[in-house]
Amino acid sequence: MAFAPPYRTTPPRTLACCWLALALLLVGPVAAFDTVILDAGHGDHDRGAAIGYVYEKHLTLDTARRVQELLKKAGLKVVMTRSTDVFIPLRDRSATGNRYGNAIFVSIHYNYSRNRDGAGVESFYYHSSSYTLAGYIQAYLLKRTSLVNRGVKHASFHVIRETTRNPAVLIECGFISNADERARMMTGEFRNRIAEGIAQGIVAYRKAH
Ligand SMILES: [Zn+2]
Repeated sequence: MAFAPPYRTTPPRTLACCWLALALLLVGPVAAFDTVILDAGHGDHDRGAAIGYVYEKHLTLDTARRVQELLKKAGLKVVMTRSTDVFIPLRDRSATGNRYGNAIFVSIHYNYSRNRDGAGVESFYYHSSSYTLAGYIQAYLLKRTSLVNRGVKHASFHVIRETTRNPAVLIECGFISNADERARMMTGEFRNRIAEGIAQGIVAYRKAH
């Protein structure tokens, strides 16, 4: 999942330098981020996906708090777009995503499908510079949870499209509409696994850059 240079043949040296400078300009300073902006999806009247009393907004906040603790232990600074059950407009979430330099933005969600068999984990990016981060988190989430791999996908969700200063991804951590996955995600033990997958993916991504 290394970043591929934007050419296939070896250009003359001066040209290579230009390409490198251009690539760095386009990609931005990926290295040495020290801040993780965690975005727990939904909140307050926006419950997100819901089955009975299982609300996505509660699962995302609980998971984000667990990730926050793990990342702090790993020596990273964490900013939460919300840390209580409040409604935060999408534009405020992406504004937080753009407020800090040397940061990454990770939005946490749980999925819903009318087809109750829908299952698994998927990670979304919008800007190509965010693809690698999505790949790392997806890989570690699968490793920690053994859920179905739905892949790393491109999508135009507001928070990952409008967060332009930093790599930004949106993670769907399993389906509330799937009875098996819902039963698992209602346990703290499983949400710990999800949080560990996200945190380990972030730490591994950081080491690789
Ligand atoms: Zn959601």
